[in-house]
Amino acid sequence: MDHGYWPLAAAFLLAWPSYAQEAADAVAPEAATETVDAFSGLTDLANAALGAKSDGAPTQAETWMVAAANPLAVEAGARVLREGGTAADAMVAVQAVLGLVEPQSSGLGGGAFLVWYDAQSGSVTTLDARETAPLAADPTLFQDESGAPLKFFDAVVGGLSVGTPGTPRLLEDAHRRWGRANWAGLFDEAIALAEGGFTVSPRLAELVADDAERLQRFPSTAEYFFPGGTAVAAGNMLVNADYAETLQLIAAKGASAFYSGEIAEDIVAAVRGAEGNPGQLSSIDLALYSVIERPPVCVEYREHDVCGMGPPSSGALTVGQIVGILNGHDLASLEPTSPEAWRLIGDASRLAFADRGRYMADTDFVPMPVKGLVSEDYLKARSELLSGDDALPEVAPGDPEWDHTLLFADDASIELPSTSHISIVDSDGNALSMTTTIENSFGSRIMVRGFLLNNELTDFSFQTHENGVPIANRVEPGKRPRSSMAPTIVMKEGKPVLVIGSPGGSRIIGYVAQAVIAHLDWGMDVQQAVSMPHFVNRFGTYDLEEGTWAADLQQPLAELGYEVNVGELNSGLHAISVGEILQGGADPRREGIALGE
Ligand code: GLU
Repeated sequence: MDHGYWPLAAAFLLAWPSYAQEAADAVAPEAATETVDAFSGLTDLANAALGAKSDGAPTQAETWMVAAANPLAVEAGARVLREGGTAADAMVAVQAVLGLVEPQSSGLGGGAFLVWYDAQSGSVTTLDARETAPLAADPTLFQDESGAPLKFFDAVVGGLSVGTPGTPRLLEDAHRRWGRANWAGLFDEAIALAEGGFTVSPRLAELVADDAERLQRFPSTAEYFFPGGTAVAAGNMLVNADYAETLQLIAAKGASAFYSGEIAEDIVAAVRGAEGNPGQLSSIDLALYSVIERPPVCVEYREHDVCGMGPPSSGALTVGQIVGILNGHDLASLEPTSPEAWRLIGDASRLAFADRGRYMADTDFVPMPVKGLVSEDYLKARSELLSGDDALPEVAPGDPEWDHTLLFADDASIELPSTSHISIVDSDGNALSMTTTIENSFGSRIMVRGFLLNNELTDFSFQTHENGVPIANRVEPGKRPRSSMAPTIVMKEGKPVLVIGSPGGSRIIGYVAQAVIAHLDWGMDVQQAVSMPHFVNRFGTYDLEEGTWAADLQQPLAELGYEVNVGELNSGLHAISVGEILQGGADPRREGIALGE
């Protein structure tokens, strides 16, 4: 392999761009929220699921199950599944309601990745509905006139950060491929809730209050979240007539009603007219948008295949690298509380994140060593680095096999968590894992026709080069920003055994990898696996979850050589294990439930 000027460039590039992580750490993620008593009028089944979750027990079922971030959305999906709909049908209903009741996290104005296991063919398919950069965008999109990167929120709030939404097209595409139910009917529940009003959850109310200044910069957003000038409060009934109308159009005419015509015109006008921070999205960008089927990325782990979404997501590759590096180490013989287990997991994560920062981006625009990064030989070589007793003194990107040579500089993207994850298994045995997002909490803060527009473009690197070497994840026209979303299906002997994913910015990767390890190595059920205290190392500090026993490992991990930080780690894991029965787990840090029959 010829890396040309690699040794010289490496000297400049080995240092982690602390800029990105410092910025990400400076802003608190979405706050965790209580769930019980927050929702009234739920079915007995949903109340039982909330009860099971607060007891720390998984939900059990025989034929189908759905787990997502809000009980109202889960109930909409459950109704579809009960009536014989597929997981793809149920997903449409869940997403339509999530866009209403959890508007800060995902919706029509955002993008998503979907992993599908098809029971009939036994195949895994991944669909990329990531937002695209406008064709008018250039690599300096997030730089000021002097070429300096914009401050994160100066870039986020307004039109500049808005990419072409992918979620409406994904709903239609997934339904066309795998749906059975009548398309229009899948929106009934969301339309009824939007017209009749839904109860504002504690989480939504808290996030609105926390973000008051930014949300009130745009009149339509301010009117909705601050009716009469006062922030919506938990327990208020909130009506979203504009959203109901938007859904009615999509229900009647399909996703094309979103990508052309009056909705598209309003989106473009709102983005281009955003005061102080206009963007460049055009009607051509919307008209050209398509969902792309990509090859799934699967990495073997202890007789399982951990499968997920490849580039432009770094999710499956980085989760895959972490578990692939750990293959050579016996975690099952170590206690979940042992510092040695977390040394191995922490350093496997550091090695994987080093590669992520160097190599991963949209493969339609930049060459990437996708196969090399998860090849058995490469992962074995990386795994051997963990044979010592202490934290690795230095971690650098590795040298994976390339189809051809190209050198990139380390990335400097900033990702802050919002987002939502949906896991579904239907009565035919199909499984769906979908992570869906508008990026930051409330996205760009611009509301159009009852939904918020994403700020996904800030997932690109603001910097284009480092010491003259290009950064793979720089902005380019039509390109999809690198993601960390890791919708995952773990397979054994060709069948799904675990359907899982989470929000959480780049911490998603750690949350998902840890839950997979907890389930497969430590035998935890799905509720235990999603509830367990978090340990996340993204190639910077070792983050331990405050208020949990993870914080007890602060000292031992510091003694091994890590810089340790104790703080809130607000995942939103939703998982279903598939065995003799189905078991579902919903993250206690958020408001969701798992429901099944
Ligand atoms: N925009 C992020 C990504 O695609 C997700 C943000 C989050 O999870 O909160 O990786």
